Amino acid sequence: MQDLRSLTYTELEKFIIDIGEARFRAGQIFSWLHQKGAMCFDDMTNLSKPLKEKLSAISYISRAHIEEKYVSKLDGTVKYLIGFDDGECVETVIMRYHHGITACISSQVGCRMGCRFCASTIGGKKRDLLSGEIILQLILAQNDIGERISNIVMMGIGEPLDNFENVKRFLINVNDERGLNIGYRHISLSTCGVVPGIDELSKMNIPITLSISLHAPNDEIRSTTMPVNNRWPISELLAACKRYQAVTTRRISFEYAMIDGVNDSTENARELARRLGGIMCHVNLIPVNNVAERDYKKSNADTIKRFIKALEDAGIVATVRRELGSDISASCGQLRQKRLV
Ligand code: SAH
Repeated sequence: MQDLRSLTYTELEKFIIDIGEARFRAGQIFSWLHQKGAMCFDDMTNLSKPLKEKLSAISYISRAHIEEKYVSKLDGTVKYLIGFDDGECVETVIMRYHHGITACISSQVGCRMGCRFCASTIGGKKRDLLSGEIILQLILAQNDIGERISNIVMMGIGEPLDNFENVKRFLINVNDERGLNIGYRHISLSTCGVVPGIDELSKMNIPITLSISLHAPNDEIRSTTMPVNNRWPISELLAACKRYQAVTTRRISFEYAMIDGVNDSTENARELARRLGGIMCHVNLIPVNNVAERDYKKSNADTIKRFIKALEDAGIVATVRRELGSDISASCGQLRQKRLV
């Protein structure tokens, strides 16, 4: 059966016309699904009973609920455990910045990419999220806090480019002015480096920010922490980034988790700067977060300073990411499936 929340506006219109209904019904239904957060056909009070019966015989509406909620005492960050009808859940995080409210959303239940420092990958991937289920995380969080979400980072559980078709529909729908209407420039998508997915994204040619989880200056180090590097080594990844940039002209953001003694030497910084030469970019350093099952340690503050200096000397702009929600395990790499908590 078709989930109506996972159709784009154009697809929904076609669906409605194909079943012999008037085109304007698509507008009503899209608004119920994407703006009002309807969870069932009965919520749609401006549709007739026969139409609702007709729709429910051939389609359904993806649903979700807030299963648990944690609020950070340190910085007001909110972490939600969002549950689906099949019992699976993902985590969604709301962060408050001076420029607005940012939601960090998940794209899969679990993850199969296997990055060694990341909690989301422990236990592998359970399933992909539908586009409607990705949207639901925003609808539920927004209704709960009672404020508009202005920015989205696809940096929660899962690898968005390992679920491309659903993520593509999500991007189209979340940007739709008849839906949540969030501008592409306010959306970042982070990938561990799924090269064909980056090329698919280039074809969409939308001005979102592409974030690359690089975390190492060379294949030797990267392959020890990120198995995806064995499939698509750094040279191929950076070539895809250049193709992406040629199409979109957007600056690329490279994420780099600073791991004590693994990837944080000044020589590592110089090598990183050499590799990134020719790409308009920004490096975001993340002191690696503690994950109970992993024994990686954060680089110390002096090492990070030296690393930034070496990057800057080589003409690369770098910043250190502020850690939010550390008291509720909401920081990068700490999100996980419920059954594993
Ligand atoms: N799969 C995508 C989306 C996840 S984004 C990706 O890999 O980009 C989550 C970000 O947090 C990624 O940059 C990831 O590499 C990083 N991360 C994972 N574990 C971490 C940890 N323990 N400390 C700091 N960052 C971590």
